[in-house]
Amino acid sequence: MKKYCEMSREELLDLKKEFDREFDEIKAEGLALDMSRGKPAPDQLDLSMKMMEVLAGDADLKCETGVDCRNYGVIDGIPEAKRLLGEMSEVEPENIIIYGNSSLNVMFDTIARSYSHGVMGNTPWCKLDKVKFLCPVPGYDRHFRITEFFGIEMINIPMTQEGPDMDMVEKYVNEDPAVKGIWCVPKYSNPQGYTYSEETVKRFAHLKPAAPDFRIYWDNAYSIHHLYDDNQDFLLEILDECAKAGNPDIVYKFTSTSKVSFPGSGIAAVAASKANLDDFRKYMTVQTIGHDKLNQLRHVRFFKDINGLHEHMKKHADILRPKFELVLATLDKELTGLGIGEWTKPHGGYFISFDSMEGCAKAIVAKAKEAGVVMTGAGATYPYGKDPKDSNIRIAPSYPSVEELGKAAEVFVLCVKLVSVEKLLE
Ligand code: PLP
Repeated sequence: MKKYCEMSREELLDLKKEFDREFDEIKAEGLALDMSRGKPAPDQLDLSMKMMEVLAGDADLKCETGVDCRNYGVIDGIPEAKRLLGEMSEVEPENIIIYGNSSLNVMFDTIARSYSHGVMGNTPWCKLDKVKFLCPVPGYDRHFRITEFFGIEMINIPMTQEGPDMDMVEKYVNEDPAVKGIWCVPKYSNPQGYTYSEETVKRFAHLKPAAPDFRIYWDNAYSIHHLYDDNQDFLLEILDECAKAGNPDIVYKFTSTSKVSFPGSGIAAVAASKANLDDFRKYMTVQTIGHDKLNQLRHVRFFKDINGLHEHMKKHADILRPKFELVLATLDKELTGLGIGEWTKPHGGYFISFDSMEGCAKAIVAKAKEAGVVMTGAGATYPYGKDPKDSNIRIAPSYPSVEELGKAAEVFVLCVKLVSVEKLLE
């Protein structure tokens, strides 16, 4: 197949006529499909239903230190939950605080605390003229919304398959004291599914920040979310690397079981140095008398340990893998060689990232919507919702059924072709 950009005007007009007809046919079907958010499908949620039974009847509701989990107490997590989330985060239990149901909520709180009270005795960010955050792009829209909410200036850092452009990161972090943090999704990144290389992690650990309160926001949301048993990505453990580099306090590592058990009803945790966790605890003791220990107990009794988590994640993978493969096969079959798009092929996580020709993403997403397929808004993967090239689209294949997804992928590739032809005819 010829590249679209090498086609004559007549050839493009012929294609447009054909695609317009196909589009009208699809539109007439009145579809209502959603590939917009990374939500597990109902059959994935069914995998954890037995968890609802582990505390039923006359179950012992004391944690291993004898504390009654039905009552107040134990502010930073029951020991067995710290062990479980510690294993998941690859750190010792003493480097873990267990929170409530959402890691994003903890990230928001962490920024809010730094803003109002400062990081470990440093000037609160609200008293500074300028606070900046580095944002690897494309990235997670909800991260960017938190920093935007606090009026923090966001700076785009291009992503590569190895992670963020580390030359840029080092320059900003090591030279500008207004740079206070960086958002990272280091494994199976949202939306590209990239995993930071060993060299990238080491360069993070060896940063020499101009600001003493600079922190890496290491959101390891997809740490055990593999699609393949025999083709997994590996990520170097950052806390250990930072400690070895003499930078033990430079990183906060966030995680949760949202896409392991139930989104919105899982457990979240932060892993960090003792000094950082003490800083977190000062705020926590004012904020709450304790998080949901029954949910912590439920998770520990259901999963038991890291092996239980891995076995469970294999079941998720069995459901997710065919969906990813179906979308990727459709993209490969319909778009390869046309020069109108590129896409990632992740080994885990929840997303595929698609880059259209420049100036086409918004129109593709709008066209898909017109045909009844909702995608994540174009631009959402960039700070302030502004994709400078208007080319990135996040595809979330998890929620629709395989049948629905086949149809949605078909609609998507047709919209890509149609909008690209229209662009070239401009
Ligand atoms: N971090 C990333 C990178 C995510 O993609 C998501 C959800 O999509 C979250 C955090 C949300 O996590 P939680 O449910 O623990 O708040």
